[in-house]
Amino acid sequence: MSRGILTVVSGFSGAGKGTLMKELLAQYDNYALSISCTTRQPREGEVDGKHYFFKTKEEFETMIAENGFLEHAQYVGNYYGTPKAYVEEMLDQGKDVILEIEIQGALNVRNIMPDALLLFVTPPSAEELERRLVHRGTEEMDVIRSRMNRAVEESEFMDRYDYLVINDDLQVCVKELHELIQAQHNRASNRTDMIDKMKKELKIRKENRE
Ligand code: 5GP
Repeated sequence: MSRGILTVVSGFSGAGKGTLMKELLAQYDNYALSISCTTRQPREGEVDGKHYFFKTKEEFETMIAENGFLEHAQYVGNYYGTPKAYVEEMLDQGKDVILEIEIQGALNVRNIMPDALLLFVTPPSAEELERRLVHRGTEEMDVIRSRMNRAVEESEFMDRYDYLVINDDLQVCVKELHELIQAQHNRASNRTDMIDKMKKELKIRKENRE
């Protein structure tokens, strides 16, 4: 069985990545969503081990020291990191693994795993982004402001991604995401098995003709 595709999904906080991921996993098999560790406080309704593994700063730093993360970064004053073991295990099982992480982490993954697919999710406008953040209603105004400011910085890196995914209509966006990821399976660098098979078969036919 061929190894799974590693996809990194980033986007402005409030772009709707969470909902997108939920829909993607509900509609298609073969995806595994990595659960990150974070030192931020759980939001209302968030469950430890489901949305995140909530850690203290000390616990997180121990995991860094033990090389337990594929990547980690700081975001608005908190640590976030992708536990390495789960990702490797799922890829080996042929699952397409999704990391929903911010930009620093995404660019680190690009360095470690150059074959990873990097997708950036954005709402159609800045006004819409702010509207979604306000409507989420889980954050204070100063947090919303800091996330909007962070978005200004993050927009500088949008062109480092392989594809933009514009999240206007959710269902259209889910389908687009799925198709982009599945197309990766046929990238020549991911199909060395097929390339080898064709080379071998062509050679045999040539020999038989001679
Ligand atoms: P939130 O606090 O809104 O759940 O997440 C804040 C940001 O951290 C989001 O952009 C989210 O994608 C990112 N994030 C979540 N998990 C990780 C992770 O494991 N590594 C990195 N680098 N970023 C993460």
